[in-house]
Amino acid sequence: TTQPTITFNDGNSIPQVGLGVWQTPENVAPMAVSTALKAGYRHVDTAAIYANEDGVGEGMRQSGVARKDIFLTTKLWNEAQGFDSTLRAFDESLKRLGTDYVDLYLIHWPSPHRGRYVDSWKAFLRIKEEGRARSIGVSNFAKEHLDRIIGETGVTPVLNQIELHPTFQQKALREVHDKLGIKTESWSPLGQGKLLGNAVIGQVAAKYGRTPAQVIIRWHIDNGLIVIPKSVTPSRIEENLKVFDFRLDANDLADIAKLDSVGGRIGPDPLKASF
Ligand code: NAD
Repeated sequence: TTQPTITFNDGNSIPQVGLGVWQTPENVAPMAVSTALKAGYRHVDTAAIYANEDGVGEGMRQSGVARKDIFLTTKLWNEAQGFDSTLRAFDESLKRLGTDYVDLYLIHWPSPHRGRYVDSWKAFLRIKEEGRARSIGVSNFAKEHLDRIIGETGVTPVLNQIELHPTFQQKALREVHDKLGIKTESWSPLGQGKLLGNAVIGQVAAKYGRTPAQVIIRWHIDNGLIVIPKSVTPSRIEENLKVFDFRLDANDLADIAKLDSVGGRIGPDPLKASF
């Protein structure tokens, strides 16, 4: 079965399922990334702050999969925001990754108290023009931050990577994205593993003879979301990609939709985060 892709507002496309590597140690990343690529993943999501870009690059090379066949995302850390410092931080990420381009570069957080995300976005436009990032986007942006960068540059990010899982579904922000032509990418899609014991998810999993992780990943796919589950365990990495040969029916989707809760956020609130 072929993997679904999502097409961006700049014409490029992204494999809908990728491997997340937050909290994957530098020395474990080569194994996790090469295992994933050998299992059929074609999309990896890292960040400068994850301190594993060297290991991710090593894993890509070890896998034997051609660079052009891999969709690689990395992110600008908050401390490097600003025009010149963004350009420098991007050069350093490329060097650590051992590649001369990324498929997607993201502003990791708006970090509004720094007042530099518009300058950072202007540097992103240059990096995109140079072809060193094929696409550019953001992460953890609220509507006001999206409106501001679009208003000041006329360039809309291809996606916004936000916390999103069955217990925190972000319906309002997803509507904003749809109106603006921005794709939604789900971080902590399994609720950092905390959702795997949920009773409703368990019932749906039993119905299809699938695991809870596979049901949740399939829920993201069936909602048109890009999803980047994290694991360093080879059997789980493989399991998380075996989601293209079934789909959830309307009843299952309705049952999972009911799990949404305003209290479901696990990570920091981007409007309150002061890092
Ligand atoms: P996740 O929701 O992907 O959950 C990962 C955890 O779930 C694993 O550590 C493991 O304990 C468990 N797990 C995974 N597969 C499993 C399986 N098949 N069976 C049993 N348990 C399983 O958590 P995450 O790492 O927070 O999010 C995924 C990715 O999203 C990150 O690695 C990172 O790439 C990205 N992310 C981005 C931001 C951001 O600010 N942009 C923030 C958090 C995460």
